[in-house]
Amino acid sequence: MALIVQKYGGTSVGSIEKIRAVAERVIETSIQGNQMVIVLSAMAGQTDGLIKLANDITEDPDSRELDVLVSTGEQISVALFAMAVKTMGYDARSLLGFQVAIHTDHLFGKARIHDIETDRIIRNLDQGRIVTVAGFQGLDDHGDITTLGRGGSDTTAVALAAALKADVCEIFTDVNGVYTTDPNICPRAKKMDFISYEEMLEMASLGAKVLEIRSVEFAKKFDVPIHVRSTFTNERGTMVVAETKDMEKVAVSGVAYNKNEARVTIRKVPDQPGIASRIFDPVFRAGIVVDMIVQNTSQDGLTDLTFTVLKTDFYKTMKLVSDIAAEIGAERVLGDEDIAKVSIIGVGMRTHAGVAKTMFATLAKENINIMMISTSEIKISCLIEEKYTELAVRVLHKAFGLDDEKEKAS
Ligand code: ADP
Ligand code: ASP
Ligand code: MG
Repeated sequence: MALIVQKYGGTSVGSIEKIRAVAERVIETSIQGNQMVIVLSAMAGQTDGLIKLANDITEDPDSRELDVLVSTGEQISVALFAMAVKTMGYDARSLLGFQVAIHTDHLFGKARIHDIETDRIIRNLDQGRIVTVAGFQGLDDHGDITTLGRGGSDTTAVALAAALKADVCEIFTDVNGVYTTDPNICPRAKKMDFISYEEMLEMASLGAKVLEIRSVEFAKKFDVPIHVRSTFTNERGTMVVAETKDMEKVAVSGVAYNKNEARVTIRKVPDQPGIASRIFDPVFRAGIVVDMIVQNTSQDGLTDLTFTVLKTDFYKTMKLVSDIAAEIGAERVLGDEDIAKVSIIGVGMRTHAGVAKTMFATLAKENINIMMISTSEIKISCLIEEKYTELAVRVLHKAFGLDDEKEKAS
């Protein structure tokens, strides 16, 4: 008997018919003698709808109340799923984050899980029930509901798999696995059979939303193998596992893009010790994650500082930075939301030369201007105008030999 944690995303539970189909699929695996813990997302579009409701009240909703609101999407899914299982003659029990309990820190909207109690889940499993847990939500130590950030149900699933020492963690979604790039924008994307935790971490952090980044961090830390696969077929998907020697053979294994960031530029900042710290201090204290940062060499004691943040943090960041810019005597603050980051990823970059050169030349050939560049050992990212995103992804995918030849022939 195996203990299996499965997570179904929003599209997979997007209608009553789909919830019934998931219930049938889960029951089938359960009656083969497995214990099943099913993590569900909100039905497709619900979380966005709830955020919109909040934004209809105010542009900057109270973060505690926003979490109370957006966590309700998952509550609906688990209740409907448990009902569906019961109508099929099997026993199920839904549990919300606080009932489990999934303990997190206090950062509303991007809380981190620090501990999961497993007793209640195990008790229910031992009574022969299918247990369904609401994804994306937890409980802080003031007893308040928190949420884990967009896509956070993946993290709930992997963290539960680690806490329960599950035999396998399966992430069911609307594509067949992890591809060399987003199959919805590049028809020649290829499904990978395996990907290393390191590459998946980079792909996720650079925008491949098929797995949420913290879920991969958890999986790597606690050695949880993840199987990413389709809800709608029985095909084998992609295993996310520890790196093997073979994986270094190719220089670039994937291309990712992210349209969720915005750029902030502070013009003519006095170039003095401590200035960067003063600018970023209020931003960090507000829990805002800063991504790419570039500071130019100074001219006449003045410099420009540019960085990117999530679009959802853009409004708040502009306000914080404008206040500080006035205090330190910078000339002005500019913002740009029409940007995208395209990235190439591969553990093979450690041993292959010329990868950056190919990337820059490929973008240049299409006349795509690079605004910022950042690199790490296994990735290179370029900030470009948002309207060129799809084109950039496709030409890079081809330039690094990732195109699916079968697709080309058809
Ligand atoms: P779910 O609702 O199941 O959590 P998501 O929408 O969060 O699903 O993630 C699945 C989507 O991720 C796919 O539909 C696809 O468009 C996108 N995606 C982006 N990059 C990749 C990639 N490299 N491989 C597979 N899917 C990707
Ligand atoms: N419902 C949440 C979201 O849309 C969490 C998830 O689906 O993983 O971001
Ligand atoms: Mg998701």
